[in-house]
Amino acid sequence: MDLETLEKECLSCRNCGLCEMRTNVVFGQGDPHAKVLFVGEGPGQQEDEQGVPFVGRSGQLLDKYLFAMDMDRSCGCYIGNIIKCRPPQNRDPLPEEREACMPWLRQQFRCLRPKIVVCLGRVAAQALIRPDFSVTKEHGRFIDKGGTLFMATWHPAALLRNPAAKADAFGDFVALREKMAELGL
Ligand code: URA
Repeated sequence: MDLETLEKECLSCRNCGLCEMRTNVVFGQGDPHAKVLFVGEGPGQQEDEQGVPFVGRSGQLLDKYLFAMDMDRSCGCYIGNIIKCRPPQNRDPLPEEREACMPWLRQQFRCLRPKIVVCLGRVAAQALIRPDFSVTKEHGRFIDKGGTLFMATWHPAALLRNPAAKADAFGDFVALREKMAELGL
């Protein structure tokens, strides 16, 4: 199945209770031939309103990091989330909501076959790398899982709350660029 067909199916998803509260499903956005997949947590208010991932303040910060690395969301990378519908008051997604939504991300992964997955923040890192993953201690490390490299860095919203971590996060994006060059991406 291609991403476009998958997105059409996902837009009518009713796998969990969040479907009752959403304005839009936020499926994902980016280059269908992306080699790098960024995964956030889930839509906030503006993403819910627009149906596009990372369009709020944290998205603007993400775009700045991408720009600094000569990347942008239309070329070479794809941006998705662990869950596709906004939880009320932006609370952490519940385990059952995550489980209900993960098949969509798995299928996105199968369509894209990315070489590198960058987890943005704890929720994505713990869902995709290890349940006890610590972003503070383990950010910027590449972990091979079945031939795909996984790396985690801070969620841009965490960087807005704690600008002291921005330098380390920038270092993670530099490491990403270097890894991409090493792999010829
Ligand atoms: N935060 C996320 O984790 N994902 C979005 O799409 C927007 C904000």
